[in-house]
Amino acid sequence: MGSLRGMEATPLVVDGALYVTSAWSFIHAFDAATGEPMWTYDPGVDRAHARFVCCDVVNRGPAYYKGRVYAGTLDGRLVAVDAETGELAWEVQTTPENSAYSVTGAARVFDGKVLIGNSGAEFGVRGYVSAYDAESGALIWRTYTVPGDPSDGQETEWLEWAAETWSGEWWKAGGGGTAWDAIVYDPELELVYIGVGNGSPWYERIRSPGGGDNLFLSSILAVRITDGEYVWHYQTTPGDNWDYTATQPLMLADLEIDGRGRKVIMQAPKNGFFYVIDRETGEFISGEAFAQVTWATGLTPEGRPIENPVARDLTGGVHVAPGPAGSHSWHPMSFHPETGLVYFPVMEHSILHAVNDDWDYDARTENIGGDWEYDGPTAGTPTVSTGHLVAWDPVGQREAWRVEHPDPLSGGTLATAGGLVFQGRGDGQLRAYRASDGHLLWGFQNETGIAAPPITFQVDGVQHLAVLAGWGGPDVLFNDPEGIGGGRTGPGRLLVFKLDGEATLPPPAPEPGPIPVPTFTVAATPAEVDEGATLYNDFCISCHGADAVSGGITPDLRRATEAVHQTFSDIVLGGVRAPLGMPPFDDLLTEEDVRRIQAYILSRARESASSSP
Ligand code: CA
Repeated sequence: MGSLRGMEATPLVVDGALYVTSAWSFIHAFDAATGEPMWTYDPGVDRAHARFVCCDVVNRGPAYYKGRVYAGTLDGRLVAVDAETGELAWEVQTTPENSAYSVTGAARVFDGKVLIGNSGAEFGVRGYVSAYDAESGALIWRTYTVPGDPSDGQETEWLEWAAETWSGEWWKAGGGGTAWDAIVYDPELELVYIGVGNGSPWYERIRSPGGGDNLFLSSILAVRITDGEYVWHYQTTPGDNWDYTATQPLMLADLEIDGRGRKVIMQAPKNGFFYVIDRETGEFISGEAFAQVTWATGLTPEGRPIENPVARDLTGGVHVAPGPAGSHSWHPMSFHPETGLVYFPVMEHSILHAVNDDWDYDARTENIGGDWEYDGPTAGTPTVSTGHLVAWDPVGQREAWRVEHPDPLSGGTLATAGGLVFQGRGDGQLRAYRASDGHLLWGFQNETGIAAPPITFQVDGVQHLAVLAGWGGPDVLFNDPEGIGGGRTGPGRLLVFKLDGEATLPPPAPEPGPIPVPTFTVAATPAEVDEGATLYNDFCISCHGADAVSGGITPDLRRATEAVHQTFSDIVLGGVRAPLGMPPFDDLLTEEDVRRIQAYILSRARESASSSP
């Protein structure tokens, strides 16, 4: 894939061609049987846009319809490309230009319309989903997921009543509710189901000071395919206070429950409960915790969470499980009709939530509202981070089996008619399990971790398995030694398997040597180096890693050369490396700030060099 960044796309196979997207929203086409490249489309994403992306420069996949491949781009466009030649047919900007919106979710085509959502709740945007004509690229409808500024009037009557569940001046930070992953269609009911994200900012008492459910945050929202109008909603986390998106995969199935055939949606969102919802009406059927949850003790018969008041109040610092990475996130689930089980990766973890009550909206930076320097008294107990593959019985609402994993975070799943479940892991293992009981049947070691889900397809009667490998994401970027995203970073690649396949992988890239002693010096007092550390933690850490140690997908600044240091402020303020993904920060930092950050990085390089063997 020509990139070290995270790979999250589900490939598509159509008529012997395999289409997949990769970092920076590239689209690739290959001969599905031989791997021979057909074409690559580079949408020319403005890489400085990485500053407004929480969770790596990923893309979750293309859509295909009538000879064209469709994909969203990180900078908010939707592109339609000829499936045979890779030539651009049309493109539209789906978000306000140069805004904090981004697009990482897969494009979807239903009923001749291309649907695309967006991301950016952590940067202060208002979520919506747009439907474009697949042929022409003309906008057909746009549906907002949260109400806007009441003084402008809401777009629809149903957003008027949604606005009554909000208070204060939520629209200033957009409100959030971005639909950054699940958008699913039921052709029989002609309904589109949208998984809606968390609030902006995260904490209800600063987002909506008078409380309220804050519709349609953290909800499954059903709208008509024809015009995007509201039909029903089910809110998983009323008054979201913990980054509990309901953007996670929405799985449609027909199940027999209590002797009655039900058309259901199944979802295992971040908040840790597995939901079965009637997809005709939005009625709650059942829900049970599938991981440790400390923010709630259970659900009422109507499907409303029974909250832990300490997690709602967030007085001081409170450890809450799950943390914002969720008990389960975007990683696709699979269902096996014969076993009746749903297979998905689960994480046990928590975070220390502390609210910054002095928070104020700032369009230049993140708008989460957390007090990251909080070191006062805390309530609750941190959870030891672990992860596993679970097989869940959605009718009985209980775990059937699990396989423990070495790292908390692992990949999406595939269940096959042959009774197998495939899943990748952070350590590069791709494994096959028996679907009925989780017995391990097969494994393959790749150089880098696998987060994306495998697919299976046939070409000329030969069954193949394909998966996009590549390990990135927010935890790799942040590189917290206590973090949950442990895994092997390295070159992203598409792996395709068949029985008796004979290809071999190239040898792995060599490990980098020890950190060299820097030759460059910056005049700075110890106090200025400390100030540099604080600035680094405010502006640099989310991409270049805790303690200036890179997680492996962005440059390790301790290795910066003499030449880089000589042009350091041209890079940080002047944006000379914006084409490589390093945005300018001249709106937030001064020359003096940059000198302090540089001094801190050099001090970290000297510490690391002197401590290496
Ligand atoms: Ca979020």
